[in-house]
This record gives sequence, C-alpha cells and structure tokens, in this order.
Amino acid sequence: MTRNLSFHDDWTWQLRHALTSADELAEALELDRDELEGARRAERAGLPISVTPYYLGLADPRDPSCPIRRQVVPRELEAQHVPGDLVDPLGEEDHQVAPELIQRYPDRALLLVTDRCAVYCRFCTRSRIVGSDGGARSVERLGPAARYLAEHPEIKDVILSGGDPLTLSTERLVRVVRLVREIPSVETIRLATRVPVALPQRITDELLDALRPFHPLWLMTHFNHPRELTPLARAACNRLADAGFPVLNHTVLLRGVNDRVDVLSELFRGLVRERVRPYYLLQADPVAGSSHLRTPISTGLEIIEQLQGRLSGIALPKLIVDTPGGQGKVPIGPDYVVRRAPGVTTLRTHRGVEVDYLDPPE
Ligand code: SF4
Repeated sequence: MTRNLSFHDDWTWQLRHALTSADELAEALELDRDELEGARRAERAGLPISVTPYYLGLADPRDPSCPIRRQVVPRELEAQHVPGDLVDPLGEEDHQVAPELIQRYPDRALLLVTDRCAVYCRFCTRSRIVGSDGGARSVERLGPAARYLAEHPEIKDVILSGGDPLTLSTERLVRVVRLVREIPSVETIRLATRVPVALPQRITDELLDALRPFHPLWLMTHFNHPRELTPLARAACNRLADAGFPVLNHTVLLRGVNDRVDVLSELFRGLVRERVRPYYLLQADPVAGSSHLRTPISTGLEIIEQLQGRLSGIALPKLIVDTPGGQGKVPIGPDYVVRRAPGVTTLRTHRGVEVDYLDPPE
C-alpha cells in the first residue's frame, strides 16, 4: 500500500515527520522481504532509520532497486559482514584529540556538533554514532574542543560535521559557528551537510542571513544521484552560491546507485549548472554492514577513465580512497604515463593516443 507523502515547505515539519520505523516505510513504499527484514532489524540495532518525507518522495514506491531507496532503506544484507569491514573505518576514535574533535591531518580538524541528520544513509562512515549518540552538542560540551583549536594554531580549517550541522536550530548553529570563528588562527570553516539533498527547505533566507557574517564559510554537500537535483535542491544550491558560499560536492560511489558512467556524467554536469563543484568521487568506506553497497576499486577507475575527456575539468572530481584506519585520503586514477625515460615522458590521452612530452633542457 502507498500513501501520499506531504511536501510541506517547512524544514522543521519535514524533520518532525521523518519516517523512522519499518511500519512507516512499509506504508510509504512496497517493501520487498529484504527491505522489510532490514528495516525491522534497524529498529532493534545498528544505524536507525530516518528519512524526510521530501527525500522519500523522490523514491520509486514500487522498485526496490531505486537509487534513492538503496541509500536510505535498510536491507537485511546489513547483517552480512565481510573481511575488511570496520565499525570505525577512518579510525576516528583513535584520532580524537578532544571531546567531539577529530584531527587526522596537521592543518584541519573535524568537529562533531550533533549526531542527527535529515536522512540516515545506509553507507554512512559514522554509522556507529549517527542517530544514537545524544543529539545536538551544547556549546559548553564543545568548549574543550574550542580550547584545543585555540592552542593549536596550525589548524586552519575546521569542518563542522556530525551528524548534520544544518539540522541544528539556526540559533544553536550560529553559537557553534561563532565559537569556532572567534579562534583567530582558524581561517576556513566548512559545513558538511546532506541538507541540500535531503532537506533543501532548510536553506532559508533566515539561515543564510545568520551565517553570512562568519564567512569564509564553505559548504560541503553530498549529492549521489541526478534524481536528487530537484527544483527545490537546485534552488537551495543557488541560494547558497548567491549568499557567497563556495559549494563543493562529494559523491560516494555506490553499487546500484551511481556506479555507471551515464549516471555520474549527468550528476556532475547537473551540479556544475547549479554552481556546485564536484570535487571528490569517494570510494565507499568499508563500513560494517554496507558491503552490498560497495564497488571494487576497479569500478571507480574505469568510470573516471571514461569520464576523462568527456567532462570538463570543473565537472570531473578526483577519485579518492580514504584509507582504512584513518591514514588519510589517497587520490587514485587511471595510469596515463606509459613510459618514462630521461627527458621524455610518454603519455596516453583519453583518445588512446601516445604522446611524448619533452622536458626542457637542463
Ligand atoms: S547525512 Fe552524512 S552523516 Fe548523516 S547519515 Fe548521511 S552520510 Fe552519515
């Protein structure tokens, strides 16, 4: 049985009416057995269920292979564990330098400001805490993290994440942004958010006016499929760009969602049209219970090889593996260097032609 979903414009209504149970999903979609069992299991343990009515409205109610459903509807396959699976794939707990503060690189740090999101993505790197770790963090709780940042002026870039920082009330978000902005050595603040994808109603004038005094603020969003680029989502991206936010997108490469050249080509072109720069195509992290959504590394390499030369540089993201254990991101790509000899490098172009590049004389 299906039911009419409401597309109320108020973002708080969307959050209040997020679907959070197997029964609610089963009312909205024709779930197959794998999904129904997965949803029942998610009610008991692991990453909980949450989907805004808006985002679920993008899903095909009759097709379990729908790319929107695959991202947010649990499957029984989440119970399956394979070699290499990790509960904390990026080793964040080992890199925690203060409560809610993770530092994996010398010049930047990640501040976890809430565990709540508009949608709980079944492949989430932080599924060990998302949706089950106490909600929004108070400014008092973030105090030790702010002190650490102030005492480490080499940290120039702070990423507010979680959870999704844009699910906080505007007032609370401003308090957190101000806390970080008042640290003189912090140059850039980034907001890591799926809100433009799953809750675009949140990008209100009130929010943008409240954040504008704290620039430079960058917005890092996460579109995975062209179906997510709805008129509302596109308008949200445009409002952000108009308000002076550089907007960057990372896409997670997901089996059965976007592991095709035509799908990613359409997505990346669509993002650029809305002034969003596709900057990373991320190999999915080996999060425990998400192996059915991961692709082999060769899939990403083949896709990037086919996109090279077909998409302009501003539409072509870097293919990245965030190495398990938190050792850092590694860009990977097809090998275009055919041969190296003293003073001569032979390169293969996207047309398959080999061309010599001669170094300048010593
Ligand atoms: S919105 Fe981001 S943090 Fe939240 S569940 Fe999805 S991937 Fe994880």
